[in-house]
Amino acid sequence: MAGKEDFQIVLPFDFDYYLPKNLKEAVELYRYLDQQGKQPMFFSGGTELITLGRIDLAYTEAVIDIKEIAECQMIQFSDHQLLIGSAVTLTQLEEANPFPLLTSVSSEVADHTARGKITLGGNICAQIFYREAVLPFLLADSELIIAGPEGLKTIQINEIFQEQLRLKKGELLVQTSTDKRFIEAPFYAVKRRQQWDTGYPLITLAALKMGQELRVAISGLCPFPFRSPEVETYLNRWGQAAETRVDNALSALPKPILEDVEGSADYRLFVLRHLLVDALSALERAGA
Ligand SMILES: Cc1cc2nc3c(=O)[nH]c(=O)nc-3n(C[C@H](O)[C@H](O)[C@H](O)COP(=O)(O)OP(=O)(O)OC[C@H]3O[C@@H](n4cnc5c(N)ncnc54)[C@H](O)[C@@H]3O)c2cc1C
Repeated sequence: MAGKEDFQIVLPFDFDYYLPKNLKEAVELYRYLDQQGKQPMFFSGGTELITLGRIDLAYTEAVIDIKEIAECQMIQFSDHQLLIGSAVTLTQLEEANPFPLLTSVSSEVADHTARGKITLGGNICAQIFYREAVLPFLLADSELIIAGPEGLKTIQINEIFQEQLRLKKGELLVQTSTDKRFIEAPFYAVKRRQQWDTGYPLITLAALKMGQELRVAISGLCPFPFRSPEVETYLNRWGQAAETRVDNALSALPKPILEDVEGSADYRLFVLRHLLVDALSALERAGA
């Protein structure tokens, strides 16, 4: 991961750098620095501060680097839960591979060099809206462990992640906790880009099958990643033809559909339609 020196070379502003050793210290530092008017920022891989800071879309006078906090660094199975710390890099996840669907999605984020710096928490909490690494956790009804001024709390991801992670001021994501049943379930994941082999998605689709229930989560279609119960209801009408289920599901998508340099809204819908038909076919018999 990067240190302060890497940022001072490229950023047009200076900031104080803190490296707390535990969660209590991190939370107290945030409160103190906020009271001083320093606009503090928790910081994990730090790549977003470089990307957005140099074009005036991010600013801080104090960063609180969480990478030395033990809870934020762990990958551990405990009972039936997999705990992953928010400061674990995407490369570490790929190498340890504790959650194959997560590996499949996160190993397509950015390029190899950037994945050595980008962290799970940084991607889930990112301002850059693709946040692809959140998709497996939305599908797995994972829980998030969050530290803040009131201590630690555990909350179901689908309650607190609505388009983005709805953290309160001074809170930080510590870990994800995922039940092993979801980790072992059949899955399908694919990323389509408009150009090049690396970079932002045109569409990323992740799907998981629990028993007879298909779940899907999507990034790149809207200016936020999402999982939609309405879309899943249509896709799960197994008695109907796949194309009918997919067309009905497309009618229930959230809005707006992105229209940008990566692709038009119509093109994105065209690609998604094919990916959903492929996902249904790939998972039709799985878990039966
Ligand atoms: C070259 C490049 C290519 C990219 N390609 C993709 C892509 O294909 N798909 C994709 O989804 N994203 C992509 N991104 C976006 C990237 O994943 C995000 O910018 C991500 O935030 C970077 O992770 P980081 O660990 O460096 O985050 P940081 O820069 O450390 O933090 C990002 C934001 O999250 C906050 N934050 C970090 N950790 C925590 C925490 N534990 N609790 C609370 N808040 C926290 C920070 O305060 C900051 O606001 C790309 C970025 C780069 C630089």
